[in-house]
Amino acid sequence: MSVVLDGSPASEGIAAGPVFLLEWGIPHVAHQSISDEGVEDEILRFDEARRWALERLQEIKEQTEARLGPVEARIFDPQLLMLEDVEVVDGTARYIRENRLSAARAFELRMLELRSMWSRTSHPMVLDRLNDLEDLMIRVLRRLLGMNDPSDLGALEEPVIVVAPNLTPSLMVQLDLDNVLGIATDHGTRTAHWAMLARSLNTPAAVGFGDASARATNGVPAILDGRIGRLVLDPQEVEQDRFEARRKQHSDWEEEIAIIAALESVTLDGQYVELRGNLDLPSEVEQAVAHGAVGVGLFRTEFLVVGRNSMPDEEEQYEAYRSAAEAFPAGGVYIRTFDLGGDKFPMFLNMPPEQNPFLGWRAIRVCLDEPALFRTQLRALLRATAHGDVRLMIPLVNDVEEVREVRSLLQEEAEGLRRDGIPFNAGYKLGVMIETPAAALDAAELARYSDFFSIGTNDLIQYTLAVDRTNTRLAKLYNPFHPAVVRQLHQVARVGRAAGIEVSVCGEMASHPLGAFLLMGLDITALSMAWPSLSEIKRLVRDVRMEDARTAARKALAAPTAQDVTRCLVEGIGDSVDLSVFSGRWSLSVPG
Ligand code: PEP
Ligand code: MG
Repeated sequence: MSVVLDGSPASEGIAAGPVFLLEWGIPHVAHQSISDEGVEDEILRFDEARRWALERLQEIKEQTEARLGPVEARIFDPQLLMLEDVEVVDGTARYIRENRLSAARAFELRMLELRSMWSRTSHPMVLDRLNDLEDLMIRVLRRLLGMNDPSDLGALEEPVIVVAPNLTPSLMVQLDLDNVLGIATDHGTRTAHWAMLARSLNTPAAVGFGDASARATNGVPAILDGRIGRLVLDPQEVEQDRFEARRKQHSDWEEEIAIIAALESVTLDGQYVELRGNLDLPSEVEQAVAHGAVGVGLFRTEFLVVGRNSMPDEEEQYEAYRSAAEAFPAGGVYIRTFDLGGDKFPMFLNMPPEQNPFLGWRAIRVCLDEPALFRTQLRALLRATAHGDVRLMIPLVNDVEEVREVRSLLQEEAEGLRRDGIPFNAGYKLGVMIETPAAALDAAELARYSDFFSIGTNDLIQYTLAVDRTNTRLAKLYNPFHPAVVRQLHQVARVGRAAGIEVSVCGEMASHPLGAFLLMGLDITALSMAWPSLSEIKRLVRDVRMEDARTAARKALAAPTAQDVTRCLVEGIGDSVDLSVFSGRWSLSVPG
């Protein structure tokens, strides 16, 4: 009997092959005391293991840099930093000295203490750090216990689907990736660093299966669908057939992508819809270009700070922004200032734990309170405007005061650049993200200070419906088609039009087939999305009539419930688009 497990998608692609169970757990450490005379030797042993781990990680970092580039390689910095941290180093030595514990036991206890301190939060970014911590524990403990080096994972004998409780970035890059067809884990998030690596490496992956590693056995045949987050163990004929059909669909898609990328993004009745790419990492720029993006609608800059032990300097930022600008010489590149807090915490800011981080010190609020960090970013952004159509975008704006403050900081930084004779485009554009009901309701006022609006539907939905976007239990309530959301989108589009400024959408809703159709109908014709969705949405654009989208949107605006809104959109699209190709990732359950 086949076992079908549902998790969450983490990296596109579909694969079939035997399971390889990766057992990478914290080894058992016996409680062992040492004699007074043995203390200094034990401290030396710990120090040797720690230095060995530092060297190993440094090597892995260098390999990653050679393979994927310097930004991706930096994901090892938190681990390297932890290995030098006095809390870890002196804490372990103290336990050896004061409690006469073996190096392994002392280190284990110290790390478990740190883990329990960190576990009190549920922020995904902190959870990702826990993952780093465990990786270190395993590495150092194995060394102290004389177990083999994890890099001895060595060459796999055949192509496999790796199933593991969780992965770490260092394990990920040590895997013999030529033989890894896909990866499925019990735990982890899409934002975990190893999942980001899987995306950069084009390895299908899915997370959050709960107990996949307990249910799978080595060698059992399996199918992994990274697009919908599904793992099938021991698939029977019907699943095999389904897999073949999906694989065929997928490879047809791959072929089609290159063709679609070159086609115009125009509706059947000749209306242009601008499709742009969202970037989480600079390396995604190539994929965005290959999938036909004409610009970058959202460049998330947090990769420059999260997990780093120091602020990124101006030069590094300038280079990153500039290369995105140069990749799109003819298109706009909308770079968002740091959106920290919420679920993204840089180590160097020492952000205090908060009761409600999504309602807390987040995004523009952090930046305005941290002038050194913010001014450096603004200066780097201004310099990048000399290399293309770089536009500056502020996240989580609530009122015009915030925009005024940013403008005045920008003026001061621009003045400084002028004084230093550094080029920038004085006609740069500054826009705001509409992500809160306050901003949507106050859009007319904000429009007076903004050159454009970009609607962040991911946040707008969570703040409108009071539904935490990261809470899987509430996923059903997180509905982009709630009438309160639809009306705000309409209001912002109308205000933007009246003020003569561009309104675009860069939240996930733009990559939802019904979402894109609704947005087009509301006259929002610039949509930005992660690169895997670009071809799908372009195909949709080319298969529908703008006139039908407008009619459907008019009906949706009068609909009393989210279900009614959805029904209006499905009816409006009619037979022109095969919605089943999307249904894997989106819940398109349509009321009868
Ligand atoms: C959004 O909120 O829709 C958005 C695009 O920003 P992020 O997902 O980075 O919060
Ligand atoms: Mg947002």
